[in-house]
Formats: sequence, structure tokens, C-alpha cells
Amino acid sequence: MQTWDVIIIGGGIIGLSLAIALRKRGVTVLVVERGEPGREASHAAAGMLADFPLETPPVLQTLATASARMYPEFVHELQDESGTNVDVRDQGTIFFATPEHLRERPCLITDCPLPAPLDELEPALGHLNLAAIHLKERSVDPRALTAAALKAARHRGVDIASGTAVTEVLLADGRVIGVGTERSSYSAPVIVNCAGAWAGQLPPLQFPTHPRTAASPIPYRPRMSLSPPRIS
Ligand SMILES: Cc1cc2nc3c(=O)[nH]c(=O)nc-3n(C[C@H](O)[C@H](O)[C@H](O)COP(=O)(O)OP(=O)(O)OC[C@H]3O[C@@H](n4cnc5c(N)ncnc54)[C@H](O)[C@@H]3O)c2cc1C
Repeated sequence: MQTWDVIIIGGGIIGLSLAIALRKRGVTVLVVERGEPGREASHAAAGMLADFPLETPPVLQTLATASARMYPEFVHELQDESGTNVDVRDQGTIFFATPEHLRERPCLITDCPLPAPLDELEPALGHLNLAAIHLKERSVDPRALTAAALKAARHRGVDIASGTAVTEVLLADGRVIGVGTERSSYSAPVIVNCAGAWAGQLPPLQFPTHPRTAASPIPYRPRMSLSPPRIS
């Protein structure tokens, strides 16, 4: 029976980018994806590479900032290996600060001024009397990003089993030995669960997950990426 060094459950942007990073280190990798790789949250995302401290949970700030810094190099490598343009942009984001933000950072508007009046940047929003600021953030096309990651993973020799749902993580003598699927099983001594919103559903270690935006009282924080023709 074929064995891999690592099996990754889930072929979203997290599973695919981890698979590429492991292959670069000489590790054999199988990604098991129940549908088509890159078709769930990674397909729906807006592509904002956000690390603004006022809306990043403090515990994630260092990670978010490091990740935003690493993105240009990550994207450059993916584009090189896949031949796919992922449309990375650095036009930044228009962010509408709430009264709470302005209380916390009274100089926000002068510290992060818009590069042009709001009605020039986004005419449809110009009539809004809101505290608009400009964040120096990048963005990518998330669908192009996952397509590029999939091509780059294949190019690097990552094995991908799509249309195959993992039903359980297999254990023997208290150690991981592989994953079971609806039709068969795959063998590896290391399993990484990258099943995103479904990560908690895999026996034997199930855990509850909760939708945040639908169920929790998170303040509405309007933000939008600038489109390139609006700023030169
Ligand atoms: C509407 C929307 C907008 C967003 N906008 C942004 C944004 O602007 N910026 C940003 O940084 N983030 C954004 N996000 C969040 C971002 O999309 C996610 O954080 C990211 O895509 C998560 O990637 P993932 O690989 O963990 O999950 P996913 O892309 O969901 O991948 C998980 C994969 O696991 C597979 N899977 C699940 N269960 C199994 C199983 N049992 N067996 C095999 N495979 C399985 C699924 O089919 C799926 O392909 C947004 C999310 C949404 C929904």
C-alpha cells in the first residue's frame, strides 16, 4: 500500500499552500479533497490581505502582519510555478472607521488619509457622511490564487485525491496511521486537518465550530478594496 509522509485533509488555500511548503522540503504529500480543490471559502473570499490592528484580534496580530509581509514573495513564487497571474494589487483599502475606532485612535483620520476625495475614489459612496480612511493593504484575486496554488502543487509533485471525503482519521496503538474515506483509506504517519469550516467534524477528534458573522454580535465594519483605475 502506498504511503505518504503527510496527508492533508482539505484542498483550500491553506491545505494547498501547506502542501507546497512541505514538498519544497522534500516531504511526500497527499491532499485529500472531498470536492474540487479551492472551491469553498477560498473561492468565496474577497482577497483582502488585511492586518489592520483595530480589526484584527490581538492574539492574531503578529501572525496577520507577518503573513501580509510574506504575501508578495508567496504570490511571486506561485505565479512563477503556475504561469497564472493572481492579480496582486497594492492600491489599498477604503475603511470606514466606527465611533469606537475613533475613540481608540483619535488621530486615525489624519494618520491614514484618503489619497483623494471619497467621491473621486468611489463615486457611489461619496454622499456618505462616514469617517473614511485609507489602509495600505494589498489584495489578490482569490480564485486565481487557489488556481495558481493548485497548479503549483501539482507542478511540485503533490498528489491530490479530489472528490473524496475523509470520514475519519485512522489510529492504531494511539498513533495516527492514515485517513479513511467513503471508498478506501490512505496511509501516512502525519495528518494535517485543513478542512476549514468542517475541521471539527472529523472523528475521532470532533469539536464544535460556530458561524461568527451570522450568530455573534460583531460590529459592522464596512471596508472595500480600491479598484486600480481610480488611483494613479
Ligand atoms: C464570503 C467570504 C469572504 C472572505 N473574504 C476574505 C478576505 O477578503 N480576506 C481574507 O483573508 N479572508 C477572507 N475570507 C476567509 C478566507 O476565505 C478563509 O479564511 C480561507 O479561504 C480559508 O481557507 P481554508 O483552506 O482553511 O478553507 P476552505 O477554502 O474552505 O478549504 C477547506 C477545504 O476542505 C474541504 N473539506 C472539508 N471537509 C472535508 C473532508 N471531510 N474531506 C476532505 N475534504 C474536506 C472542503 O471541501 C474545502 O475545499 C472570506 C471568507 C468568505 C466566506
